[in-house]
Amino acid sequence: MADCLFCRIVEGQLPADKVYEDEHVLAFRDINPQAPQHVLVIPKRHIASLNEAGDDDVPVLGHLQRVIPEVARRVGVAESGYRVVVNTGRDALQTVFHVHYHVLGGRTLQWPPG
Ligand code: 5GP
Ligand code: ZN
Repeated sequence: MADCLFCRIVEGQLPADKVYEDEHVLAFRDINPQAPQHVLVIPKRHIASLNEAGDDDVPVLGHLQRVIPEVARRVGVAESGYRVVVNTGRDALQTVFHVHYHVLGGRTLQWPPG
């Protein structure tokens, strides 16, 4: 998707501070962090949101979730704890329509979120 911000990061057309990368998944630091550690984990293949995920996306999204603890380890929050958030649609304030898992940590997080 040429007009998708995160597809452009995957394709190397925009810079990103990468934390993890493999054939199917990329993790990079959020440009506007909401916690001391804030990483976005995305499938390299374009999926607009969880609402658009199909049966053929199950392997990549399963793999992505398996990668999250490694991402947490790399940014030093695996032991202290972290939160994983997938904003989906208007009420959740999704702004980038390429599925991304927020990994937030490095401080005690509030619950419930606003
Ligand atoms: P959403 O609100 O859609 O769940 O989250 C989108 C996230 O992408 C936001 O936390 C925002 O700061 C982040 N973001 C937006 N543009 C860029 C960018 O160009 N680079 C990086 N690294 N993060 C971005
Ligand atoms: Zn995309």
